Amino acid sequence: MRVLVVEDDHEVARLVSAALEHGGYVVEQAYDGREGHYLGNTIPYDAVVLDLGLPELDGLSVLRRWREDGRRMPVLILTARDSWRDKVSGLRAGADDYLGKPFELEELLARVEALIRRASGHASSQIQCGPLILDTHTTRVTVDGTPVELTGYEYRTLSYLMHHPGKVISKTELTEHIYHQDFERDSNVIEVLINRLRKKLGTTRIRTHRGKGYELAVH
Ligand code: CA
Repeated sequence: MRVLVVEDDHEVARLVSAALEHGGYVVEQAYDGREGHYLGNTIPYDAVVLDLGLPELDGLSVLRRWREDGRRMPVLILTARDSWRDKVSGLRAGADDYLGKPFELEELLARVEALIRRASGHASSQIQCGPLILDTHTTRVTVDGTPVELTGYEYRTLSYLMHHPGKVISKTELTEHIYHQDFERDSNVIEVLINRLRKKLGTTRIRTHRGKGYELAVH
C-alpha cells in the first residue's frame, strides 16, 4: 500500500512518514500543495495524509481539484486543533477523515489503516482469505493459525492482494503499490516475490493468470 504525505513542516512530515513506513506502507512526501496535487493526480495512492496549511496551493484547493478530476483515494486531512470550520470545509471538499494537530502518531496510523480498509470494503483490522489472516494493525500474517515471517516487500505484496481478493492484479499495478516512485521497475522482481510468497503460504493461494497478473484465492 502506497501513501502520500503532503505536509510543509519537515519535522512532522518526517515523523509521519517514519510511522507509516514502520506500519508497512510505502511513503512518498510532498512539501507544498502544488507538488502534492501533481503527485496525487499522477500516482495511484492507496491513501493520502494532507495538511491544510500549505505553501503554493492550500490543502483544501488540492483536495477539491483531486475530487473534481475524479481522484477517489481516501484522504485524511490534518487541521489546526480546534478549528471546527477547517474540519467541516475539509469534509465538504471530499476528505474522508480528519485529525487535529498536534496528534499522536499511533492515532494517525490507525486512521490511515481504517481508511484503506474501508475503501476496499473491510470492516476490521483482520483480513481473512480462506486459511490466511493478515492483521493490518500488527502487520502479522498467519496460515491456519501458524505465524508466517514475511519480509517488508513480501508483506506489502500480500497485503495489496488481500485488500483485493478475487481480482486479477497486474504486475504493473503491484509494482505501483509496493515500491517507491524512483524504484527501477523490473517485472521479474514481482515474479520472485510471488514465488517466495507461494513457498511460505502454500502453492495454491496465489494463482497466475498468464499475461494478466495474479489473483489471491478467496476461499
Ligand atoms: Ca502546514
